[in-house]
Amino acid sequence: MMDSQIETQGIVIVGEDICEQVISRADAFAAVEQVFAAMARGDAYNFPVVREAIGHADALYGFKSGFDRAGLVLGLKAGGYWPGNAAKGLTNHQSTVCLFDPDTGRLSALVGGNYLTALRTAASSSVSIAHLARKDARVLGMVGAGHQSTFQLRAAAEQRDFEKVVAWNPHPEMLPRLQAVADELGLAFEGVSPEELGAQADVIITITSAFEPLIMADWIRPGTHIACMGTDTKGKQEVDPALLARARVFTDEVAQSVSIGEAQHAVAQGLIGEGDITPVGAVINGDHAGRDSQDAITLFDGTGVGLQDLAVASVAARLARERGLGEVVRLG
Ligand code: NAD
Repeated sequence: MMDSQIETQGIVIVGEDICEQVISRADAFAAVEQVFAAMARGDAYNFPVVREAIGHADALYGFKSGFDRAGLVLGLKAGGYWPGNAAKGLTNHQSTVCLFDPDTGRLSALVGGNYLTALRTAASSSVSIAHLARKDARVLGMVGAGHQSTFQLRAAAEQRDFEKVVAWNPHPEMLPRLQAVADELGLAFEGVSPEELGAQADVIITITSAFEPLIMADWIRPGTHIACMGTDTKGKQEVDPALLARARVFTDEVAQSVSIGEAQHAVAQGLIGEGDITPVGAVINGDHAGRDSQDAITLFDGTGVGLQDLAVASVAARLARERGLGEVVRLG
């Protein structure tokens, strides 16, 4: 159904609970894979990100927006970080997606963005694993055990025939949440040191709030795929910049990778240049070979772009409408 047809049917309001009900990991994977491909072809654009400290409630508030001309998805994700929310029983990260009819500019959907953010971030690393990891990968390494980590683990586990999860977190008391998911998925689980994690893992996901390298280049074996997902702001860092110099580096969006992504440090130190970073969409489109040998280290810098949010929100809105879920209202 075209957005213009949807718009005449009113605005659908899709709450967090409905998002959880209607959209699957497979839906999110397909939506994110398609939009990464469209970005690499120049068919989809992210607009400049706005992010401001508002001087109230210690909050960081902003917008991520964009237009996917191929999928006809136009909109924005508004929200940010309210550090006092946890004490009120709310999630600190809060976001809502607004979708607009690209033919008329009229609002077509309001979609809760919290669950979808975790789903689309996990879909992003998953897409990188699907396209870049060795087919014979058997051990998955998880660095990080916060809110995002279980979404990451569930999505990654679907991409290869993993047998075992090795995990390390700076705060070891958080590891049981990952072990519970590994147990549920029937995967062996071992808490290890970060050096041991590098020695065992074929695929590694980093998803922490670190501001200094947690994983050193010498710990990573040839043939490993590493998805760096935690660094989404200037100053954050999860891995040794020397690892980026050694690896084939891929990303969702090069402009974000060099400014707010994991590559910011290697680029600032002159270890790699912007031209050394390939959009993963080029691999999806068949314009880049991706992994060119079994021994290459591939590194995906997943910075998180607004178009990912819009892609999954548009699927959630369509599925909610099809199933008669969510409130429908009219602006007149
Ligand atoms: P969380 O607060 O639930 O968990 C934080 C994780 O980082 C835990 O593993 C914790 O042990 C670790 N950690 C906290 N402080 C640290 C420090 N100073 N040094 C090293 N590790 C530290 O957070 P979350 O929701 O799981 O998010 C994790 C990270 O992912 C955040 O940095 C967040 O901004 C980022 N993120 C990225 C994207 C993206 O698209 N790339 C999307 C969502 C979140």
